[in-house]
Amino acid sequence: MSEAPVGLLTSAASEKLLADRRVQNVPTPWGDAQALTGRIGGREAAVVLRYGEGLTIPSHRINYRANIWALRELGVRQVISQNAIGSVNPSIRPGDIVISHDFLDRTKSRTLSLFEDEDCWVRVDMTEPFCPQMRATLIAEASKHSERVIGRGVFVCTEGPRFETPAEIRALQLEGGDIVGTPLVPEVVMAREAELCFASIAPVINYGAGMAPAVVHFGPGSMNDVYYTGGLHDLVEKSIIDSVQALSAERTCHCGHGLKGGFHGKRPEWLRRCSLDEPE
Ligand SMILES: [Zn+2]
Repeated sequence: MSEAPVGLLTSAASEKLLADRRVQNVPTPWGDAQALTGRIGGREAAVVLRYGEGLTIPSHRINYRANIWALRELGVRQVISQNAIGSVNPSIRPGDIVISHDFLDRTKSRTLSLFEDEDCWVRVDMTEPFCPQMRATLIAEASKHSERVIGRGVFVCTEGPRFETPAEIRALQLEGGDIVGTPLVPEVVMAREAELCFASIAPVINYGAGMAPAVVHFGPGSMNDVYYTGGLHDLVEKSIIDSVQALSAERTCHCGHGLKGGFHGKRPEWLRRCSLDEPE
């Protein structure tokens, strides 16, 4: 079986992480997306910097459809999402690494679906929103680098770009949230619609509002301090490199059949080949 490139959604990719990089403009039905192609751990990879080169695009203005479709156009079938996030659950501390198994969508004004402007719609199954095969690999590989890997968690995705209020964090605790961040949804949904595998590796870099005196960017005990000075970022990059090497290109999960059973209407041109073409 030929190995499809692995995809990575992140905010920055160091030279250590992504070698032999080239910038690619990928046309999509929603405009061009920019991706970096190269090698992660010796394997072909395509990386999308969600906030743009230089962090110019906030979470609520990301062109999520173009980013996800660009990865698929580049041949990617498995997507790792790197999410530096905050803790909602007091037992999850800065320095931990969470591999989520579920999510709560608390966004407000984002595009919900790849098929939003089409004469069709889908309702994909979200019983297992993150790919179980990829989650198992991420948990196993990250555990080689850290004793603080948490193999389950409910990822709350908020609209941003601001952080949450203490009242919002208390509400999210009551709702069963464990960690909180601003991208992820709708990436995880659109990945399922594009029949891609998707899983998130989330280093915890702060407590949510009200769980600590303040959410601080720089200085002792800050998010920057925990992530970079404390070495968490390096652990996560090593975990991603090892996971890319360890991921089997043979998919044993159901992510590649996301559209089956939930597709209504006329298929758009751009969808081209998908699981709907396969016999039942
Ligand atoms: Zn999968």
